[in-house]
Amino acid sequence: MTDTVTTKRPVLAVENLTTSFKTQEGWKAVIRNISLHVDAGETVAIVGESGSGKSVTALSTMRLLPAGRSRTEGRILLDGTDLLKASEAEMRKVRGGSIGMIFQEPMTSLNPVFTIGNQIAEALVLHRGLSWSEAETETVRLMERVRIPAAKARLHEYPHKFSGGMRQRVMIAMALACRPKLLIADEPTTALDVTIQAEILHLLRELQREENMGVLFITHDMGVVAEIADRTVVMFRGDMIETGKTDEIFDAPKAIYTKSLLASIP
Ligand code: ADP
Ligand code: MG
Repeated sequence: MTDTVTTKRPVLAVENLTTSFKTQEGWKAVIRNISLHVDAGETVAIVGESGSGKSVTALSTMRLLPAGRSRTEGRILLDGTDLLKASEAEMRKVRGGSIGMIFQEPMTSLNPVFTIGNQIAEALVLHRGLSWSEAETETVRLMERVRIPAAKARLHEYPHKFSGGMRQRVMIAMALACRPKLLIADEPTTALDVTIQAEILHLLRELQREENMGVLFITHDMGVVAEIADRTVVMFRGDMIETGKTDEIFDAPKAIYTKSLLASIP
C-alpha cells in the first residue's frame, strides 16, 4: 500500500534572513533572523514603523542590495530554489518573471519619455516573448484588467498625464505582464489619497485571488494590514517580533509593540 503525502510548498520561504551593511565600525546587521513564507493565493503583510527593516527584507529577497556593501545570510526559497545561490543572470530572470515588484513611487519607475502602452508592451516583448502586435492587444487587456478607464485611448499617453493612482495601476499591469507567482509590494499605497488607496488595495486583493498569486505586502499602517493581509509579520528595529493570522493578531496581540501599533489606528 502506498501513502500519498501531499506537502504544500510555499511560493516563497525566507529562512533566517540576516542582512548587514558595511559601516566604519564594521558589519552591522539591520535585519536579523527573519523567517516568513507566502503561499499561492495569500497576502502576507510585513508591518512596522519606519526604519524597522521592511524594505531591506524585500530588497534582500530580490537580491537588489549593493553587493560589496551588504551581506545577506540565510535561505530564500522561491518554489524550492535558493535565490542566495542563484547567479546574477538567473536573478534577472526571477526579477522580470516569477516575482513582480511594485513600490511607493510609481513615477520613478515609469520612463517619462515613453507612452504607457509602450512601456507595458515592452515588458511583454522582453519577458514573455510576444511580438509587438500581440503585445499591444495584451497591453489593452492588462490595462482593462487593472481597471484603467478608456484603456485603448490612453495607450498613447505619457506617464505625466496619469494621476498617482492610475500610475500605480500601470505599475501593477507591468508586474502582471510577467505572470508572477509572487508580487512584492513595498508601501504601494502610502503616497496615495485615502479613497484611491482603498481602490488599489481592493484591486490587489482581487488580483491575488483571481491569479492565485502570493503577495508580500509591506506597510507601516495597521489599517492597511486589516484591509489586505491574511497573515502578518510585525517587525521592530530589524527583528521579527510577532507573526500570525491577521485576525488573531488584531484580536489578541502578544507583543507590547504590536499593541501600540494597533492603538495608533484612528
Ligand atoms: P523600513 O523600510 O522599515 O522603513 P529600511 O528597511 O529601509 O526600513 O531600513 C532599515 C534600516 O537599514 C535603517 O536603519 C536604514 O537606515 C538601514 N539601511 C537601509 N538601506 C541601507 C543601505 N543601503 N546602507 C546602509 N544602511 C541601510
Ligand atoms: Mg521602507
